[in-house]
Amino acid sequence: MACRVHTSVLGNLENQYCMDCEKSLCNHCMVVGTHTEHRVLTIYRHVCKEVVALEEISRHIDCSGIQV
Ligand SMILES: [Zn+2]
Ligand SMILES: [Zn+2]
Repeated sequence: MACRVHTSVLGNLENQYCMDCEKSLCNHCMVVGTHTEHRVLTIYRHVCKEVVALEEISRHIDCSGIQV
């Protein structure tokens, strides 16, 4: 998944995810500095699905915790 802003730049894979902007970023987006004070996750292609799964699991845990 390449960055739409930096399509012609090497290393433009979106391997960062800004939790505050709720969008994926590439290394060049990070250099701009807009997200330096945001919560940014580093994601890897093969881990990406696991990250989403973990978020869903944590939601279930939170819900069950409230119900109990
Ligand atoms: Zn970019
Ligand atoms: Zn951001």
